[in-house]
Amino acid sequence: MAAPRARAQTAAMPAAESRALAAVAGRALLDSRANQELEYLSDEIGGRVTGSPAANQAIAWALGEMRKAGLEDVHEEPWTLEHGWTRGFAHLRILGGANQVLHADAMGWTGSTPAGGLDAPVIAVNAYHLRAAEREAGSWRGKVLLLRPEGAPPKNAMSTFTQLDGFLKAAYAAGTAAVIAGQGAGLAAGMNLTHTGVLGFNTVYRVPVVNLTAESQSLLQRLMDRAGADAVRIHVDIQNTITGPVPTANVVGEVRGTSEPQQVVVIGGHLDSWDLSAGATDDGTGAMAALAAGRAIVESGYRPKRTVRVVLFTGEEQGLLGSQAYVKRHAAEMKDTVAALILDEGQGPIDAMQVGGHDAVIPELEPLARLLAGFGSPRLNDGSSFGTDSGPFILAGVPGINLSQDSPDYRYTHHSVVDTFDHVRHAVLIRNAAELAVMAFTIADRAQRLDAPWTPAQVKAELERQGLEGELRAFGLWNFGN
Ligand SMILES: [Zn+2]
Repeated sequence: MAAPRARAQTAAMPAAESRALAAVAGRALLDSRANQELEYLSDEIGGRVTGSPAANQAIAWALGEMRKAGLEDVHEEPWTLEHGWTRGFAHLRILGGANQVLHADAMGWTGSTPAGGLDAPVIAVNAYHLRAAEREAGSWRGKVLLLRPEGAPPKNAMSTFTQLDGFLKAAYAAGTAAVIAGQGAGLAAGMNLTHTGVLGFNTVYRVPVVNLTAESQSLLQRLMDRAGADAVRIHVDIQNTITGPVPTANVVGEVRGTSEPQQVVVIGGHLDSWDLSAGATDDGTGAMAALAAGRAIVESGYRPKRTVRVVLFTGEEQGLLGSQAYVKRHAAEMKDTVAALILDEGQGPIDAMQVGGHDAVIPELEPLARLLAGFGSPRLNDGSSFGTDSGPFILAGVPGINLSQDSPDYRYTHHSVVDTFDHVRHAVLIRNAAELAVMAFTIADRAQRLDAPWTPAQVKAELERQGLEGELRAFGLWNFGN
């Protein structure tokens, strides 16, 4: 038998506060409705690309769920997506020889081949040096470009992504037939999976771009290695629909604070998803945990001093567009926004709080982390995540806190055909909802608010210190001038 561990350090707190938190945590842990709601969202509504009928259905349904949960001031906050996009199909086949099918899916917000498709030779482009490759654009007409990493990877892991914008525009201008790429430069994760996604923030690329399964891409690469440049030809027929502006909305409801109601703690995840499957783990889990956390606070019978606002964002997958719309709409309120806690890393348990550069918040949150010792206290770090809806809050000077999760399977379920309800870990969803409820209540009920809001100059200095300027410029998010 192992020696008994030292008694877990517990945060000292007044009895009344302790009763409120016990009630909030208890309500959340005894409530399994988040799983039923996620099952409905995944199985009955399914994949919900922003602007699509399914996304609109999810918005209407979430409004109803928030009302049923007893949240106050439940409403939608409309915003407009510049372009709608609908997937058609992506049929790719190797010509000659075994005439094999290449399993592919289009990346989001990318274009189409001419109707009926075309036959084209495939040439490789070094994914690590896209800018240099553009010098060859004169020879790309009618060809398929396969992005393939060669040589040493660039020091900056984001560099392929940041060079894609110019590269894809050059490919379209050059009359390229199609591009084979993924969100990274390598092979798709998992067996026989493609992963869709956007290739730039709030953009449309008219050139068709597909992601291949690792097996199909490996086959293509082997054939090219044996046959030599230009010798492998494929048939490509890729059809998608790009439309003009489409209306959408974030879904908002709250628990009004008692003594400082104008001060707001936002908790949320994104309601929209990709379309290859149901968006159960991206981000059905985060959205339903946020809803359940709000409900647990309502049903605890206790109210914190400040308002806890549940926000289910749309347009996250197209470049954090819903959270950007929220921050814009609530610009005057940002000085009173204490924090935004975002849950969007899949099916695993929360294991860290990334506080968005606000170092001063870390010691303030240590008692909260200790309070969650039973769940394995979340680690606290000052990192800034622009991979989800925490980003726009950070840019607005608010601690945009990304709740990292330990989700090893997320690399497979993320944006793929296996993002389905059977990959959700039910007890973990409930646990995350309970942790989120305790976090929100604690932060909203502190004697002092967390770190004072930052000025744009402070935000700029911190983002530069974290080396994020290049990435944010590539995302079109750098709003601090030159
Ligand atoms: Zn997500």
